[in-house]
Amino acid sequence: MSDYELVYSDDPNFKKRCPKCSKFPCACPKKEDLKPTEHTLKIRLEKNSRGGKTVSVVFELPANEPYFKEIEKKLKALCGTGGSYKNNMIEIQGDHREKIKVFLEKIGFKIKLAGG
Ligand SMILES: [Zn+2]
Repeated sequence: MSDYELVYSDDPNFKKRCPKCSKFPCACPKKEDLKPTEHTLKIRLEKNSRGGKTVSVVFELPANEPYFKEIEKKLKALCGTGGSYKNNMIEIQGDHREKIKVFLEKIGFKIKLAGG
């Protein structure tokens, strides 16, 4: 069915249809449906350019901000330190690569330690 045909639909649910998948109810994969086993995340150690502090960076995250913001919170609690999520990367202050690796592997992600 083309978009043109949809415009003239008299389906009462038409206006409720999802603009992405054009289905009602929406049939798009949900953010929460991310499958950790299908992703390899990388962890590296970096020196914060401004403060010169060491940070553990988890990068090459799949684009899924709500999911990884939740992970970032858990990692901060686990490591007892500060951190942030931005640009599909999680930064955790200090060298916590091993803890982060074990934590993410438990969830199901594949982990590669890179550089540093
Ligand atoms: Zn949808």
